[in-house]
This record gives sequence, C-alpha cells and structure tokens, in this order.
Amino acid sequence: MKFENSEKLYKKGLKHLVGAVNSPVRAFASVGGNPLFIKKAKGSKITDVDGNTYVDYVLSYGPMILGHRHKKVQKAINKALKNGYTFGASTKNEIKLAKIVCDAFPSMDKVRFVNSGTEAVLSAIRLARAFTNKDKIIKFSGCYHGHSDALLVAAGSGLATLSLPGSKGVPEGAVKNTLIANYNDLDSVKAHFEKYDDIAGVIIEPIAGNMGVVLPQENFLKDLKEYITSKGALLIVDEVMTGFRSKFGGAQELLGVEADIICLGKVIGGGFPVGAYGARNEIMEMVSPLGEMYQAGTLSGNPIAMAAGIATLTELKKQNPYKQFNETAEKLETILLDSAKKHRVDVIVNRFGSMINPFFTTGKVTNFKEAQESDTKKFAVFFWEMIHNGIFLPPSQFEAWFLASALSDKDLKKTAKAIDKAMEAVSKM
Ligand SMILES: *Cc1c(COP(=O)(O)O)cnc(C)c1O
Repeated sequence: MKFENSEKLYKKGLKHLVGAVNSPVRAFASVGGNPLFIKKAKGSKITDVDGNTYVDYVLSYGPMILGHRHKKVQKAINKALKNGYTFGASTKNEIKLAKIVCDAFPSMDKVRFVNSGTEAVLSAIRLARAFTNKDKIIKFSGCYHGHSDALLVAAGSGLATLSLPGSKGVPEGAVKNTLIANYNDLDSVKAHFEKYDDIAGVIIEPIAGNMGVVLPQENFLKDLKEYITSKGALLIVDEVMTGFRSKFGGAQELLGVEADIICLGKVIGGGFPVGAYGARNEIMEMVSPLGEMYQAGTLSGNPIAMAAGIATLTELKKQNPYKQFNETAEKLETILLDSAKKHRVDVIVNRFGSMINPFFTTGKVTNFKEAQESDTKKFAVFFWEMIHNGIFLPPSQFEAWFLASALSDKDLKKTAKAIDKAMEAVSKM
C-alpha cells in the first residue's frame, strides 16, 4: 500500500495550514506517521488520494450514519442547492427538521439550530445559567463538549491523546466556574453541591464517546438527575455524538433519564455543519427573541444543511437500523475478543448501539482514569496494521468507532481478517 500522494499533500499542507489539518485528531499525532488525505467516499467505503479504499469506521467522527452519499440525501441536497445557499431569513425546512428532532426527544418542545456541536453546548450552558441565575457548571473528567473556553478542561480524546491537561489561552476566569466530577461517581458530584450553592447545571455525555466508549453504570444517570434536580440544577445531556446513534432519538431514553437541556450535532446535519440545543418551553422561552438570553448565527438553520439533515433522519427512521447496529457491534466485539485471545493480547471492548471500541488494557474501563491506563503504543501498531489491511479507524485509542447502516457482511469479513492481522502485529511488539 502506497501513501505517496498523502505524504506530498501533508508536506504541502504544512505551509499554510496548522499541522496540515483543521482539527487536531486528523493529524495522526498519537499513532505516528503521516495523516491520510481523502479524495472521496461512497457508502461504507472511503478512498484516499493514493487510490487506497478502506471500510470506514470514522464516518467523519459520527455524522455519516447512513454511509457516504446516500442517494436520498444527495438528491435532497441537489434540490436545495437550486434555490440558493443562505438567505438570512427563515425557511420551511427549518420547521420541518425542528419537528423531526422534537418528536424524537420527548423532553424537547423547542429547538434552536446552530452550526456545530461546540456552539450547541456553549449555548446550552449559557441557557442553564440564564434559567437558574447561577454560574457554576459541573462536567465529568474525560467527557468532551466542544472547544469553548469553559468546557476545555479534563476534556477527553484530543487532549487525552496529546496528554494535555487543558488548553493554553483559556483564562483562569473562564474556567473558574467549571467544576470537575468523575464519570460513574455520584459522590464526586455531591461533594461539589455540598460546597457550592450556585451550581446551574451538570453536563454529561449519556454514553461517553470521547474517552473511547464508556458506559454509565446502572442507574447512574437516573440517580444523578434526581439528585441535582433536588438541588435546583439542570441536567444538560450532550447527545452531539449519541443522538440518533443507538435509537431514533437519544441514548438517554434507553438509559431511563430525561434531560432538562439536550445538545445535538453530527448526525442531525447529515454531513453538513449543524448543531442544536433544545428543551421544554419554559426553558427555551429564555432564548432571544422570546427571552433575554442572546444567541445568534449568520448561517444557523442553513438551507442546504437542513435539507441534508431532514433527508438523513427521514431515511434513518425508515431503515430503523438499530437492531442491526447492535448485532453488528456484538459480532465486532466477539471478533476483537476472540482474536485478542488467540494472540494473547490484553483487550477489553466497550460498546453501545453503533459505537464501539477496544481498549488495550486488562481492567474494566468505567471512567477516564481507567481509559488512560490503556496501552496507546499497542493501539498505534493496531491502527496502522488495520490501515494496511483496508480499514479506516479513528487514529486514537480514545475515540469511538462508528457503524454505518451501509456496512455490509463483506465489509465485516474484511474487518475480521484485518483485526486478526492487527492483533498478531500487536502480539509481536
Ligand atoms: C463532537 C462533539 C462535540 C463538538 O461538536 P463539534 O461539531 O465538533 O463542535 C460536542 N460534544 C460531543 C459529545 C461531541 O462528540
């Protein structure tokens, strides 16, 4: 397998792009080697600029749940393009996508569309503060909620991979109202509430996906909601990654909890830049123009993005691939564990719905600290062997692999063969 064209573009890209990328994890820093440059993708496959084709488990870090360029989505985009690209005024499709989203989340009466997950979350935090008239928020170590100042502490994958505690350029003042708790540890939340009486809300990934896949333990979310509600704080559930990935709607429903504020992104834009936050009327009526919390966006509710989102969610509802996702993930888990056992490699697998990944570790992984005990050098060897065998994975131990409904049995067989070779390579380290 040759990567000459990717290498050339990487060198060229370094001149005017930072690290030749526009988002850090794309630089392959934690697995070494040059990043791949992509030419195109279709269905379950992605092709780089050297003509190598891979089964794609990155799916643009989640959005491409149907696979790439589904014909219904493509048709909707083409149709929307004919009418213009952006108007700075409302369109019918914004109402349509809002209805689809609100119908899928029982606790959401109204939604506001923005342009990214980051924007959705930073607006949701502002909203929680506006609604409660309190300043502090609690986030969990290892959860990632986008790159806004207040949330860029103990923030999972990108930072975990590079072993950064946070980010330079974030003033102390911006994070002084951010409190950190441990995932699956309600006592660590209670400790903050016992100390402070001005906590506006708690933000959480219902299934953590940005430290690798980490599941909440039985009743953790339910108990968390009950406790913080009794303290007058709001539960902000960040479903930017999990939304529409394990059921049509959110993971929280499967976990028996209802958010006060929900954040969405990724899948709902069908591959275009879309984020959203929503809540019951009483909360959303705080948002401008109905209320006093300001939030705006030149391209928010962009017509092309709305068309892609509507087409993606409509097709997703029709396909209802969630049972199939579970079965495929279960098969993948078995393949990973069997192969690891055969080659005497220590691996555990976490998964939920269409999110799955192995950790090269011996213990269980229920929080960020345990995730970080994984052997990232083993992951790097595993990753490159998978690439050489035609499987495109996220280039970090701390990222979830995603399943698309376009994934075929043939793709899975190819993946199984690659996994066996990759485990063998790891066993020879
Ligand atoms: C991806 C992600 C974000 C940030 O979304 P962007 O569109 O990258 O800004 C926020 N929260 C979670 C849980 C995510 O997975």
